[in-house]
Amino acid sequence: MPKPVVDAEKCIGCGTCVQVCPMGVFELIDEKAVPVNVDQCVGCRACEAQCPVQAIVVEEE
Ligand code: SF4
Ligand code: SF4
Repeated sequence: MPKPVVDAEKCIGCGTCVQVCPMGVFELIDEKAVPVNVDQCVGCRACEAQCPVQAIVVEEE
């Protein structure tokens, strides 16, 4: 199962991942992206590719 992991130290809260994820995995909470629906991730890596500060890594488990 793919699992997106956010480095909150890097995240600038731009919301790009919230917009590009086709599965609604992320929400912005206190200006940080949080993968609240991680079970829905299909591993497309759009979030990883489009985060402007490389704060997301999609891990394969
Ligand atoms: S890999 Fe795709 S489905 Fe998974 S969190 Fe990122 S954008 Fe969403
Ligand atoms: S795209 Fe990157 S910087 Fe922007 S909210 Fe998501 S994790 Fe944070």
